[in-house]
Amino acid sequence: MIIQPLIKMNVAFNAHPLGIKQYIENQTNELKQLPNFAGPKTALVIGGSTGYGLATRLMLGLNANTNIINLSYENEPTANRTGSAGFWNNVFAAQVLKEAGIQTKDFLGDAFADETRARIATYIKDTYGKIDLLVYSLASGRRKDPKTSVTYTSALKSIGESLSGYYFDIKTKTLSEKTIEPASADEIDNTVKVMGGEDWQLWIEFLLEHDLLAENFQTTAYSYIGPEMTKGIYRDGTIGKAKEHIEATAHQLDQLLQASVSGHASTSVCKAVITRASAVIPIVPMYGAALLQVMSDMGLEELPHIHIHRLFHDMLYGNAPVLDEAGRYRPDAWELRDDVQKAVTELVAQVTPENANDLLPTDTFVQLFLEQNGFGFPEIDYDADVDIESLMKLVDIEVI
Ligand code: NAD
Repeated sequence: MIIQPLIKMNVAFNAHPLGIKQYIENQTNELKQLPNFAGPKTALVIGGSTGYGLATRLMLGLNANTNIINLSYENEPTANRTGSAGFWNNVFAAQVLKEAGIQTKDFLGDAFADETRARIATYIKDTYGKIDLLVYSLASGRRKDPKTSVTYTSALKSIGESLSGYYFDIKTKTLSEKTIEPASADEIDNTVKVMGGEDWQLWIEFLLEHDLLAENFQTTAYSYIGPEMTKGIYRDGTIGKAKEHIEATAHQLDQLLQASVSGHASTSVCKAVITRASAVIPIVPMYGAALLQVMSDMGLEELPHIHIHRLFHDMLYGNAPVLDEAGRYRPDAWELRDDVQKAVTELVAQVTPENANDLLPTDTFVQLFLEQNGFGFPEIDYDADVDIESLMKLVDIEVI
C-alpha cells in the first residue's frame, strides 16, 4: 500500500505506520534526555494511544520505570485501510517500552463499557494485584451509558449566543470566517454526559470496590481552561461545562480516595496543543498556531511529552506543584502568563485570511499535525510500498 495523507475538515483518515514509528522514536529520544524520577509502580492510562495520553504513558515508562496498562479505542487496519494513527502508536510505543525493559499491555476497547472495566480489572488483579495511578485522558465524541444503553453525542458549541471566528483548515492552510450556532439545552447535557466526570467516577469506584487501588493511589484527569480568546467556544461553551463537571468529580473522588486508600484525585489543566481532539474545535487551531509562535519565541513552547514530563516530575510526583485555588494542577500557567497572552492577542488581531500564512507559523503547525499521523518525516519514503501485513506481525494488542 502506498500511503499519502488523507485529511479532511482537520481529521486525518489514515496514518503511515513507518512514519508513526519515527514519531514515537523522536519522542523517546527527547524523553531520554529528561530527568528520571520516582513515580508510580503501575499505571492505567485511559486514552493512551494519542495526544496527551500517549505522551503520559511513554513518559511514565521511560522516565519513571512505570508498568503501563493502556486502554484506547482505535481502528485496526483492514485490506484497504491503514488503521488509525493511535493503533500504530500503540504498536510502536509498546515496542519502545519493552526495549526499555518496561512491562506494558495494550487493550483496545470502549472505556465507557462495563465489560471493558471488568476485563481490565481482571488483568490488574492477575498481573499486579493493584495499580498506583489512573490517568484519564479520554476525548470522545460519543458515549453509550452502560446503565441505560442510551448513546449520547457531544457538541463543540458556544452557549447562549452564536459565535464567529476564524477556522484554520490544515489541509489547505487557509483561514475562513465561521459562525457557530449556540448549543441547545440537550446538546449541553449530552456533552457533559460524554466528556464530564461520570465515566471516570465509574472507573474509580469499580476498581476501588474490587480492591485494585494501592495505598496512596492517585488519579488525575486532564482538563483545559484557556484564555479569553477561546472562552466562548471552550470554557464558556459545551466542552467547558463538561470540564467543570470533571473538576467537580475530582473533589468527590478525592474524598473517597483519601478515606479509603489515603489516595488523591485531581485534575491537571494542560496547555493547548494540536491533537486529534483539539484540531476539530472551532477557533482553537488558529489560537494554537499563534500560541505556538509566541511560546516558541519566548522559549516556553513544550510538545505534549515535555509538558507532561513537567507535570509529573515537578508536580504530581515532585515537590514543586503549581495548584490553583480550586486544587487543580496548573502546568498551563505558562500558556496563561500575561506576557504570553498579550503577545498572542496582538498577533491574532493582525491576522486576516490573506496574511495568515505570513504571520502565523502555519507550516510548523501543519507539520506537527502531519507527524502525529506519521507524515512529513524526511526519513520516510512516502512513495514506497508499505507492507501492512508484515507489520501486523508486531501487533500485540488485546481487543476487548
Ligand atoms: P486525543 O484525541 O489525542 O486522545 C484521545 C484518546 O481517547 C485516544 O487514546 C483515544 O483512543 C481515546 N478514546 C476515545 N474514545 C474512547 C473510548 N470510547 N474508549 C477508550 N478510549 C477512547 O485527545 P487529547 O487532545 O490528547 O485529549 C486528551 C485529554 O486531554 C482530554 O480530556 C482533553 O480535553 C485534554 N486536554 C487536551 C488539550 C489539547 O490542547 N489537546 C489541552 C488540555 C487538556
